[in-house]
Amino acid sequence: MGRYTDSKCKFCRREGLKLFLKGDRCFTDKCAYERRPYPPGIHGQSRNKFTEYGIQLREKQKVKRIYGLEEKQFRLFFDRASRVKGVTGENLLSMLERRLDNVIFKLGFASSRQQARQVIKHAHFMINGRKANIPSQMVRKGDEITVNESSRTLPVIQQALEVIGRKEIPRWLSVNPAEFKAVVNELPVRTDVQLDVEERLIVELYSK
Ligand code: SF4
Repeated sequence: MGRYTDSKCKFCRREGLKLFLKGDRCFTDKCAYERRPYPPGIHGQSRNKFTEYGIQLREKQKVKRIYGLEEKQFRLFFDRASRVKGVTGENLLSMLERRLDNVIFKLGFASSRQQARQVIKHAHFMINGRKANIPSQMVRKGDEITVNESSRTLPVIQQALEVIGRKEIPRWLSVNPAEFKAVVNELPVRTDVQLDVEERLIVELYSK
């Protein structure tokens, strides 16, 4: 199935919560969910009763949309998570959190994961001194993420640096804006993934 190109705000309205997919706009009164907090479509305001399958599906869609993945990519992450020791649902969230696009967003170098994917693809970052232009790359403990020297004066980076000082950085990451550098202090665990999701439902869905 092709990439969904309709307004991302419909995802928030469909899932019944703000997924913060549009950067700064999500914090303004232009937020579509604030104005129309019900599913899109002509039956959007009628009461929806979900089956067990429907509940599981919605939970999966919610996580998939938060991280901006297509079904195939999401399924690949799930399969990898199920092969690793530990609780599959928790492994899945930890792995998604470790994606480079999520890390760049969490550090404040981008206002959304979508924007993070763009700046990564434009090769503005390095990991341990090597070019890192793949958004799905997973960071590891001890990784050093730096802004490419030739990108440091770009407006997109300079604007991000202004925000970074004011932004709360997750405990497992640290950032030094003066040195254009961030470090992965440790890998995120479930409690670091501050999303209101029941990952168990995703595991149940894919186990059918
Ligand atoms: Fe969701 Fe509101 Fe952001 Fe649109 S503006 S993506 S509805 S949180």
